[in-house]
Amino acid sequence: MRLITPLLLCALLPLQTAVAAGVHQHGVAQLDLVLDPPMLAVSIRSPLANLVGFEHRPMSEQEQADWTSLQQQLQQAGHLLQLPAAADCSLSKVALHQPFKETDTHDAHSHSHDQHDHSSDDEYQEHADLMVEYHYLCADSAQLKQLQLPLMKHYPGIERLDVQLITPSGQHLSQLRQGETLLELP
Ligand SMILES: [Zn+2]
Repeated sequence: MRLITPLLLCALLPLQTAVAAGVHQHGVAQLDLVLDPPMLAVSIRSPLANLVGFEHRPMSEQEQADWTSLQQQLQQAGHLLQLPAAADCSLSKVALHQPFKETDTHDAHSHSHDQHDHSSDDEYQEHADLMVEYHYLCADSAQLKQLQLPLMKHYPGIERLDVQLITPSGQHLSQLRQGETLLELP
């Protein structure tokens, strides 16, 4: 996989930089897909609020539990997207980009009293995006005619999914609305 990753990143980066500026809009998420047979890369970027209801570092036990649960869900690619079985794709990599800065995670902070004032941290972390990437190798990528996106059902906070596709047929833009789970691959 070492050779593959840089190629896919090169393909993805122009898309991400094109949409990255100021895209943090609650209710909107972004899916970028690059199909370069036999490789398929899908990256999903969303305001954290769409997925878990908050964007600060988890503070309460409930928030910590929700955040842990979300990370576990994201590790299971099938929870977000499902590929046609005929394409015979195998997941080669999952990369979850942490939305929180790692700098202030010492225990004294996370275990402090309820009265502890977190507001100064929150001001730096008003908004946070979550990004996850899934990389596949597909034995018969000609069968990749459509994807199912159960993420649109699991995360109703995503009201609109902006989709950019790069496939052997070119670059395509698409949009899914809340509850729509079928994505055609041109
Ligand atoms: Zn936000």
